[in-house]
Amino acid sequence: MEECIFCKIANKAIPAKVVYESENVTAFRDINPQAPVHILVVPKKHYESMNDLDDILLAGELLNAVKETAKKLGIQEYRTVINTGKSAGQEVFHLHIHILAGRDMKWPPG
Ligand code: AMP
Repeated sequence: MEECIFCKIANKAIPAKVVYESENVTAFRDINPQAPVHILVVPKKHYESMNDLDDILLAGELLNAVKETAKKLGIQEYRTVINTGKSAGQEVFHLHIHILAGRDMKWPPG
């Protein structure tokens, strides 16, 4: 989508600190990190949220990208978060998986 910030990052139209890339997925550092390691894993194709993801192979590629990104960064303990919809905390309406690591996390998240 033309005006979507994560589409622009995935298309390399604007810069980001990319840490992992596969055919259909890009992972880059969050601009406002909530933990010492904070990565966003996004499909290159635009999906507004998890509710729109209709491609099972891509779903697998996204999860595999989480694993490969963690491996590449040398993190073995991490939290993954997918905010779906405004009340769940989604602010950027391009599907993304947060990877958070490097500090103790509370559960339940609140
Ligand atoms: P969410 O609240 O789940 O939609 O998460 C959106 C995330 O995108 C937030 O953690 C933001 O800090 C992050 N973000 C927004 N713009 C950028 C950007 N240009 N580069 C990297 N991360 C971004």
